Amino acid sequence: MSGELLPVEAAQATVLAGVVPLADVEHAAPEAALGRVLAASLTAAVSLPPWDNSAMDGYAVRAQDVAGAGEGSAVRLTVVGESRAGTAPDARVLPETAVRIATGAPLPPGADAVVPVELTTPLDAAGNAGARGRDAAGPLPAACLVHERVEAGNAIRRRGGDVGQGDEIARTGDLVTPAVVALASGAGIGLVAVRRRPVVGVLATGDEVRAPGTDLGEAGIPDANGPGLRALVRDAGAVPLDLGIAVDQLEDVELRLRRGLAEADIVVVSGGVSVGPYDVVRSAFDALGHMNLWRVAVQPGKPFAFGRADVETRAGPVLMFGLPGNPVSSFVTFELFVRPVIRRLAGHATLHRQVDRAILEEPVSKSQGRRGYQRVVALRDANGSPIRDRKGRVRIRLAGGQGSHMLSSLAAADALAVIPEPLATAEAGTEVELRWLDRG
Ligand code: AMP
Ligand code: MG
Repeated sequence: MSGELLPVEAAQATVLAGVVPLADVEHAAPEAALGRVLAASLTAAVSLPPWDNSAMDGYAVRAQDVAGAGEGSAVRLTVVGESRAGTAPDARVLPETAVRIATGAPLPPGADAVVPVELTTPLDAAGNAGARGRDAAGPLPAACLVHERVEAGNAIRRRGGDVGQGDEIARTGDLVTPAVVALASGAGIGLVAVRRRPVVGVLATGDEVRAPGTDLGEAGIPDANGPGLRALVRDAGAVPLDLGIAVDQLEDVELRLRRGLAEADIVVVSGGVSVGPYDVVRSAFDALGHMNLWRVAVQPGKPFAFGRADVETRAGPVLMFGLPGNPVSSFVTFELFVRPVIRRLAGHATLHRQVDRAILEEPVSKSQGRRGYQRVVALRDANGSPIRDRKGRVRIRLAGGQGSHMLSSLAAADALAVIPEPLATAEAGTEVELRWLDRG
């Protein structure tokens, strides 16, 4: 292995090379497809709205009947029926009549406009007037006075005015957002075709690593990486497969990796990637596939391994990632190298986090020659919104200690601030790139 450090972009390009969206398609209710990628375009099963309906509570009328209405010259219409949401109208609108109508209820035949209830006064059978424009509840009045003219088409939502039956409403490759869930459901679609979620096997390694909540003995530590990486997998839209905790022995690591290769699209191993006497992950990758071990120019993030294993039953290889054991290093390398691969496999168009610009409120230091990813928090106003300077840059400070074993600052962080390779320190006031951790 050469002493050269591989730039972050070069490492990202290598892990993504040849990775294409999974071909498998699943069918799910729109609601259950939230966050997934459409494998086929969506076509409206029904028009939206499905029929002409009222945009307001009021009276369905013929516009020509109320053309002469005005203050001081109210027009009297006989109320002949009612149209309520969920039932068909019980009458048609003939000359000089009206049908009381509720918001969303079908427009009765004969009507071409709706007069809002605010512009009317109800009359009972004896001709006594009720309160003008109060509301459209209560017993059906015998007649109504209309105090203002309305044009034909007033307060009517036309059939198909939003979406026509058979229209394409979303395309292959689109993300199923809450709005797409509502649109597809509103257009009568019961099932959508989405790409399968990638399956990611997660294996923790280390003789010292114990399941959280179990006895640590003299020299054990609780497993932070297994649960943390599985949470990252889920957060990235994939399905985690728990491969447990391996001891630092080739046979155990290999056995668990084999299960990962049989059941997952990606396997992620934490720890055991260095060149120490008990670091067996590289040997396991070598035994199962083709391995590249890199020294990537990233901090935290050392050491890091990547390989591919061909599996007979699959179209493409299973990708194997060996991440550093230090929990923050494993988190950052997952963010930079595993998450984009998951997103590509899942069919997402955007692979990387949303970036922003930020301004350091305090100096930071890092090792020269590596790109630094520092855990930072945004200064926030009383509403919790990030505070930006006049140039729109988010004002940030460190979230706590930056040691690669320090999880408290990771949990506190809003974002990772990216400090360029050549710098050993960056002064307060330096503008840096910001990768938000909490935004898709
Ligand atoms: P390694 O990469 O195996 O040399 O581990 C580097 C450091 O990370 C050591 O201090 C390990 O104890 C720690 N470490 C490794 N795996 C885990 C894990 N699953 N959870 C928490 N810490 C770990
Ligand atoms: Mg270890």
